Amino acid sequence: MTKTGILALQGDFREHARLVSSIGVAAVEVRTPAQLADVDRLVIPGGESTTIAKLALAGDLVRPIRDRARDGMPIFGTCAGMIVLAERVIDGDPLLALMDVTVRRNAYGRQAESFEADVDVDGIDHPVHGVFIRAPWIEDVGPEVRVLSSYEGRPVVLQQRNLLAASFHPELVGETALHEFFLSLPR
Ligand code: GLN
Repeated sequence: MTKTGILALQGDFREHARLVSSIGVAAVEVRTPAQLADVDRLVIPGGESTTIAKLALAGDLVRPIRDRARDGMPIFGTCAGMIVLAERVIDGDPLLALMDVTVRRNAYGRQAESFEADVDVDGIDHPVHGVFIRAPWIEDVGPEVRVLSSYEGRPVVLQQRNLLAASFHPELVGETALHEFFLSLPR
């Protein structure tokens, strides 16, 4: 049986764990390299990318996550998780630098300007619901990156082989479709 790790350093990892469990897949919190070694895919939650970065560096998790990603482990990052995956970050520093995209942090405005939206995602047969909270937007994507969804002309769901990223939070509104898609990616 597949074990899905949720990077549990900061942010809304509990919501991701609950959603993954609701699909019937075991979700385990990951805070150490040993816990990472025990999972076969990883979700990086939303939250504050600078805090997640600090804690990941302090916990010696960056190298092992990068190594596992290069080895083909599927990773799904939402919002701050997307920032942490990106190779290029405007108004911030790259952490894992795995996905060939440029993200701009906080591009959709402040907390008070948060909004919910339905977006069409390639391969999912109904609109996907999500919340944008101080969300990053994508300024450019490299040739290996597939844009699975755009909102108002900007890519918001992206896939690069085993890596999946969304600007918004499906996990905060009980939207399971993107997680199901992520869980279907081959290991
Ligand atoms: N603005 C946050 C950051 O830069 C991301 C916000 C979120 O994850 N909802 O990390």
